[in-house]
Amino acid sequence: MDRRLQDILKKSSSVVFFGGAGVSTESGIPDFRSEKGLYKARQEYGYPPEEILSRTFFDRHTEIFFDYYKKNLIYLNAQPNKAHRALAMLEKNGLLKAVITQNIDGLHQKAGSRKVYELHGSVLRNYCMDCGKFYDTAYIMDEANCRGGIPRCRECGGIVKPDVVLYEESLDTSCLTGAVEAIERAETLIIGGTSLAVYPAAGLISYFRGNNLVLINKEPTPYDSRADLVINDYIGKVMEINE
Ligand code: NAD
Ligand code: ZN
Repeated sequence: MDRRLQDILKKSSSVVFFGGAGVSTESGIPDFRSEKGLYKARQEYGYPPEEILSRTFFDRHTEIFFDYYKKNLIYLNAQPNKAHRALAMLEKNGLLKAVITQNIDGLHQKAGSRKVYELHGSVLRNYCMDCGKFYDTAYIMDEANCRGGIPRCRECGGIVKPDVVLYEESLDTSCLTGAVEAIERAETLIIGGTSLAVYPAAGLISYFRGNNLVLINKEPTPYDSRADLVINDYIGKVMEINE
């Protein structure tokens, strides 16, 4: 682990981590905004990803939505990386109180983290829009359960929608409240792998009143000047804990 980060953790009694897509790039899942990210690989559909991933688009062009979604957002074989594992270990040691993530890949839980606020939901959960029955991702990926690529409920034939927050949709209130409370109580807040461009998630920082704000990101963010420690590097390398 980076020595400066280690020093801060040593004098902290409670730490919260808030992360974004950059936390999972070292697991092979592209982020949205850096060079290799999804925002560059979009021409094929004729719509920008923000539009495809909006609720209006989902309702109007459900088939195209699912085609894009299944090809670009599902990485069922991805494994947690050094950053996910370090965070799970810090929680186990009692220092880390919560992980708040904008990611939808479920990798924090896969690494062993227990207290995880998934602000944007999870690709691992899906539910029938009519009867509410839950399905796993293998179900929606199986063409046998789809009509025209759109997954359908086994019980009632309703559309099975991923439990992810689309653009235009609001965040889950209890998840947001939990995240705000965790940040308010933290002595140290580590923000990592996020461009801090997506609201309201980015606004969460304003609830922090602790002592140490740490920013770990490959490239500068608009909040760098507010931080006590800025590390512009790969987060897996920065956070790695040697077991
Ligand atoms: P973003 O794509 O806007 O920003 C990612 C940031 O991480 C960039 O600034 C990039 O420079 C940095 N980064 C990339 N790899 C890094 C690494 N290895 N170490 C350190 N920094 C690294 O992502 P965001 O701010 O999280 O917002 C994007 C939105 O897209 C979120 O709402 C999220 O739900 C969604 N998304 C999720 C996933 C996922 O679940 N893994 C992947 C892509 C997008
Ligand atoms: Zn149903």
